[in-house]
Amino acid sequence: MPKLAMHWWILIGLAAGVAYGYVAAVTGNPTHVLDYIAPIGRLFLNLLKMIAVPLVLFSLVAGVASLNDTSKLGRIGGKSIALYLVTTAIAIAIGLVAVNIFGPGKGLSQATRDSLIKQTESQTSEKLANADVSIIDQLVNIVPTNPFEALSSAAMLQVVFFALMLGIALTKLSRRVEGTAHVIKVFQLLSDAIIEMVQMIMKIAPFGVFAMMASVVADLGKEPGQLAELMSSLGGYMGTVVLALFVHYLLVYTVMLKVFTRVSWRDFAKAMIPAQLLAFSSSSSAATLPITIRSVEKIGVDEEVASFVLPLGATINMDGTGLYQGVAAVFIANALGMDLDLGQQLTIVLTAALASIGTAAVPGVGIVMLVIVLKAVDVPEAGIGLILAVDRPLDMCRTVLNVTGDATVATVVASSEGLIHKGERHHAKT
Ligand code: ASP
Repeated sequence: MPKLAMHWWILIGLAAGVAYGYVAAVTGNPTHVLDYIAPIGRLFLNLLKMIAVPLVLFSLVAGVASLNDTSKLGRIGGKSIALYLVTTAIAIAIGLVAVNIFGPGKGLSQATRDSLIKQTESQTSEKLANADVSIIDQLVNIVPTNPFEALSSAAMLQVVFFALMLGIALTKLSRRVEGTAHVIKVFQLLSDAIIEMVQMIMKIAPFGVFAMMASVVADLGKEPGQLAELMSSLGGYMGTVVLALFVHYLLVYTVMLKVFTRVSWRDFAKAMIPAQLLAFSSSSSAATLPITIRSVEKIGVDEEVASFVLPLGATINMDGTGLYQGVAAVFIANALGMDLDLGQQLTIVLTAALASIGTAAVPGVGIVMLVIVLKAVDVPEAGIGLILAVDRPLDMCRTVLNVTGDATVATVVASSEGLIHKGERHHAKT
């Protein structure tokens, strides 16, 4: 390939994919895209998913153990979790302000409402059936009864829990048992090996992104008339989500970087491009995680912070998802002619924050977890039928914010610990 930075290649792949998918859809030939091009995208995504679980395990164990004292771990963990929660709450608040200002859904006619719900009825009941709604159960389930099962079913929150405990145990053991450092080193090297695999996989990223985009667009464009109709009735809702995501990015992350770090937001924004493009085309923060780690290391965030804070963030921190859930809940209420008072909107902040934490970092889970939010404010769950058809593009956008939020917090935490180095990749010392 001629010398062009990787993010340009990915961007070219993305644009070409959109164009190809669009042409295929309007010329009435989307099937070949779905049959023959989509598998390339799935292959690429599988490669990324393949490394997501081992990466979280190895890098968290190594990251925790290399912090070497539990008080430092507690401090970094505490700061990260606090920032994750605060940024998510702000994101939801921004979403709610936006949806209250623009009031999308208020003018939807009964006929449009009915047809939207009807079109997606079967899928909606499928989604609702999948929703695990009890928050208490979700909390209890963070502790895996069998960590190997958690690994094999990619239950990320459970993997994170197990990895944290294993890392802490190794740290404690290293004070008493000689040779523990070797075990920690093994985890470190395995995590480095996974990052090495990422470099290899990223060589085909432009093709993977091309295929993913082409199939998303071809699929959406299968029925262009219906799409146009959807866009016109749901345009206000989609516009509100996207605008609020953008405002959160510009306002919250940029200000955080400016106030708490010496990293210029320009350098940050530039380093984040590959991760954001991948988040956009894959709709999965877990699949994007290896690239997010690489991106923050590029701006100098120490590996021991990146490898601990980011896997945690990819699992629990979803600013974009929380924001989207807030907007979606109010939009559905609007469309169904219900008014949500301030108390209900505050309930949305709380439940959307919890729901976003419980959302798995893979495509399309945010909308399933939306059920929790709707239940909390007594909005009929079937209302998700209104927004199901346009969920994918919004999923792509909110995943970009999810990933950027993780990276911002990692940068702020590293900076507060004096763990930002200029220019090179830094390995944790074990
Ligand atoms: N796709 C999102 C992510 O991976 C989760 C969601 O909102 O569905 O971050």
